[in-house]
Amino acid sequence: MSEMYPNLLKSLDLGFTELKNRVLMGSMHTGLEDRFWNIHKFARYFAERAEGGVGLMVTGGFSPNLAGQLAPLASTMNNRATAFLHRHVTGAVHEAGGKICLQLLHAGRYGYQPLIVSASATKAPISPFKARALSTKGVERQIDDFVNAAKLAKFAGYDGVEVMGSEGYFINQFLCERTNKRTDKWGGPYENRMRLPVEIVRRIREAVGPEFIIIYRLSMLDLVEGGQTWDQIVTLGKAIERAGATIINTGIGWHEARVPTIVTSVPRGGFADVTAKFYGEVDIPVCTTNRINTPEKGEEILAAGKADMVSMARPLLADSEFVRKAEQGRSDEINTCIACNQACLDHVFQAKRASCLVNPRACHETELVLTVAPVARRVAVVGAGPAGLAAATTAAKRGHKVTLFEADDRIGGQFNYAKRIPGKEEFYETLRYYKRQIELLEIDLKLGTRVDADSLVKQGFDDVVIATGVKPRTPNVEGIDHPKVLGYLDVLRDNKPVGETVAVIGAGGIGFDVSEFLTHDASHQPEGEQVDVADWQAEWGVNPDFEGPGGLAERKPTPSPRKIYLMQRKTGKVGGGLGKTSGWVHRSSLKHRDVEMLRGCRYERIDDQGLHISLTDKDGKVTESRVLAVDNVVICAGQEPYRELFDRLSASGVKTHLIGGADVAEELDAKRAIRQGTEVAAQL
Ligand code: FAD
Ligand code: NAP
Ligand code: SF4
Repeated sequence: MSEMYPNLLKSLDLGFTELKNRVLMGSMHTGLEDRFWNIHKFARYFAERAEGGVGLMVTGGFSPNLAGQLAPLASTMNNRATAFLHRHVTGAVHEAGGKICLQLLHAGRYGYQPLIVSASATKAPISPFKARALSTKGVERQIDDFVNAAKLAKFAGYDGVEVMGSEGYFINQFLCERTNKRTDKWGGPYENRMRLPVEIVRRIREAVGPEFIIIYRLSMLDLVEGGQTWDQIVTLGKAIERAGATIINTGIGWHEARVPTIVTSVPRGGFADVTAKFYGEVDIPVCTTNRINTPEKGEEILAAGKADMVSMARPLLADSEFVRKAEQGRSDEINTCIACNQACLDHVFQAKRASCLVNPRACHETELVLTVAPVARRVAVVGAGPAGLAAATTAAKRGHKVTLFEADDRIGGQFNYAKRIPGKEEFYETLRYYKRQIELLEIDLKLGTRVDADSLVKQGFDDVVIATGVKPRTPNVEGIDHPKVLGYLDVLRDNKPVGETVAVIGAGGIGFDVSEFLTHDASHQPEGEQVDVADWQAEWGVNPDFEGPGGLAERKPTPSPRKIYLMQRKTGKVGGGLGKTSGWVHRSSLKHRDVEMLRGCRYERIDDQGLHISLTDKDGKVTESRVLAVDNVVICAGQEPYRELFDRLSASGVKTHLIGGADVAEELDAKRAIRQGTEVAAQL
């Protein structure tokens, strides 16, 4: 057992049961919970994490009734047949030595379905449906349904339940005046508004007896106008303890809040001080959460006395063996969650099954199975970007003898530029993970080797995987060879000097990232260093004392050292193609640094005066012509596949596989690159 994390790995005595360590796998909706036929996949997903040593897990949210469902036919715990089916899950987890709680989540006005109910008749900005106000009796019926669901969870073999009281869902909607306009005993003064969660916990405890875990997820920072004050939150926490909760977990921010809470630009452990402020107000264990993704960060928070436990959700998706590796002193082998949301939350918002960008096996444990290869083959992988790294390490894990060729003097491909963007420092961790895997799996890594087809043929490999990536697209614009024109690689790779006024052509992920890079002063936030929590709070308007309604303050973003124009030809929303759960953060960040976003652009020419553009409406009619007097024009106009090797090798009869950007550059991202690399190597 590693002595590096004594606080994180210490057991926790709950009186009637003991948790083997302080790591709670927080609730995450994966999509597997919604359909009964996925129950064995759901069970395997949790069993792998239990085998990985996590102390306690919480499932994605299950509604206690139909009105509380997140979407039509979404996960619900309201009958014995469903509960009985869940014995597959609890049985698999217990067999693997784990413990698991079922989360009870009533969506209230956040439900994406017409039956929704709430404290008052209101519509959330994130749902097209207006909630119906509950009658006084109706509130009682919701409480009965919570109690019934908790009893069913016990019948299903769960070790407990988590009552979801935060993130702006049903319970939170009763707590705040902004959504609770009632005049009966469930509305009005705070003692009435807080009655609902207290009654839910009290009656669940009465129904399930003393030896059943009840976690209450307490909204410690609403981050919305008209949110709770600190005194109210403490009052509620104490009442929840008296009502019979076993653990208080931290909830941060309503889903409609305009402050990011979990995306990669939130500094690690950025909200631990909220829990720290609450810690000591109650005698039951308190758990902290949000952007804790390494054992080191978890240990640091617990050692500083900020909480009793740490909740990590996505990090356990990224690596099911997170805790085991920490126990064995192998934290450098952990596949770290980079908080991109691309394969987890973004999928869930698109009603797709969740997975993980850095671990495509997540939620596909029974489908993407890595077996030992019947015959060890000699495999060459060309290109050590995300696609090639995934292919090489997967093939080597299966027992193949792998040689990995990389033209650059380091691994990582385009991820080396992604990690330079302020707020994307986490991307470095993926490269650290692969570097270590290459050592452990004894992959023959040949850096600084731009391999050609003849040499590959001569070396007689059984399989060659081409992962040579992409080359930036050069748009056909008059004056594209003007000295003021730069490519994104000139900026991010070659550090070419950039003037004070800049036009960025292309508003995809890279155009946004380059704009973020250029609106930061490198001397203020040195490369690779995460932003300081206090600076981040000022940037996004979080009150450093967490006082006042919702814990909000005025936003004070650091001014940009440059004037940036960010442009696209499409007439739709600029950045409309960015991730659902992170795109708004990128847009908001740049807007607050006065980046001018232009859509419907036609790039006429580039000359000494600057960039000449015409602005068009959605019918293509020119509405305005402008000359942007810029020092530089940076091209971020997408990419094209780079795969010269493929045709020549295939023609030579070598068994050749094409993956990542070298295969299809359109809509390429690291999620697809890593998944494809893994899947191809799983079949070799
Ligand atoms: P690449 O990363 O391009 O790797 C190809 C590798 O092959 C290179 O290292 C190259 O040197 C090597 N190579 C080429 N030819 C040869 C040869 N003949 N011999 C040996 N080696 C060769 N994606 C996301 O999903 N999320 C993000 O947030 C994100 N942010 C990004 C930010 C920036 C600034 C950039 C530039 C990209 C970002 N991307 C992001 C995109 C992501 O990095 C790419 O989709 C991904 O790197 C593609 O992987 P790949 O392995 O196919 O190609
Ligand atoms: P992209 O997202 O496809 O964006 C390319 C941009 O260039 C678009 O704005 C496009 O918009 C414009 N464009 C395309 N052809 C053009 C042309 N001929 N002339 C002028 N403009 C042109 O590609 P990317 O920004 O290069 O990113 C590559 C991949 O990396 C993306 O798939 C992305 O998912 C991924 N990535 C993701 C993130 C993230 O945060 N999730 C960050 C960075 C990169 P118009 O056609 O409207 O002009
Ligand atoms: Fe973390 Fe991204 Fe994986 Fe989600 S997809 S678990 S945010 S690395």
